[in-house]
Amino acid sequence: MEKQDIKENDAIIDQIKKAADSIRNDKPFIKDLINFYEKIFILQYMEDPEIDKDYSFLTDQKEFPLLGRKDFGIDFKVSEKLFRGICDICAENKNNPEPSAKSIKNSLDVSDLSFESIVKTYLEDNSPVQHFSKPGQGFNPQLYDFILYNALKPSIVKNSKMISQFVKNTTSMENGRCPVCNSAPALSLISDKDGSRSLVCSFCWHEYKIDDAICPFCKNNESMTLKYIALETEKGIRADYCEKCKKYIKRIDLKEYRKDIYLPFELIASIPFDMEMNKKGFKPE
Ligand SMILES: [Zn+2]
Ligand SMILES: [Zn+2]
Repeated sequence: MEKQDIKENDAIIDQIKKAADSIRNDKPFIKDLINFYEKIFILQYMEDPEIDKDYSFLTDQKEFPLLGRKDFGIDFKVSEKLFRGICDICAENKNNPEPSAKSIKNSLDVSDLSFESIVKTYLEDNSPVQHFSKPGQGFNPQLYDFILYNALKPSIVKNSKMISQFVKNTTSMENGRCPVCNSAPALSLISDKDGSRSLVCSFCWHEYKIDDAICPFCKNNESMTLKYIALETEKGIRADYCEKCKKYIKRIDLKEYRKDIYLPFELIASIPFDMEMNKKGFKPE
């Protein structure tokens, strides 16, 4: 790893630990969940993926998205190590151990498929990953999906950073999807500097600007049907929802929100909103 990368990663690990401490302090009832994710998030920054892709061909590309998921460059070595590491964290999770994480890890060694081909299929069809394991092994596809995505995430995010320099005119975007990879947004952010709104991609974590008064899922901009809920216990965050498409997105106002933040954690810490919105019959994308 380059010296600069080590420094950057150390700073992010520090940020992860501070955010975890704050959340544990504010919400002791999700302490175990935060402990679990903290291990995974830190592990993701222990090594830096090497991406040997040249994206200069995107210089002249005018249309979004810039890339399909299958075109992301992946560091297979770093990702496979991470895959095994995350399996261990899931299997050893004291409060909610996942015995099938062990068989997921073992499946890598007994399968006819290489890790590389598993990843390629996963990125190509973005389909549930049942076909990577033989039936009757107590296989849990959601868990497999979770582990695989998190193993690839450092590579995906690094690609996205390389590509984001080619996203120039994001305000003319056709819809609320990510201009880099066309995935749905996971979070909405309000800038503490100028109050502008950005969305954060659920797949590559790219941040992109969008008008404040619009539903990112169906482009509805009628204020009568765009609403939100706030919760007394949650400061600087609310859930915006659209009565037309019945979808919602959580929105963090960085001016008012807790200062020590790490976005993947904030998605988890804001579970009370998901519970409320689910009760109302709304879904995230
Ligand atoms: Zn994206
Ligand atoms: Zn909508």
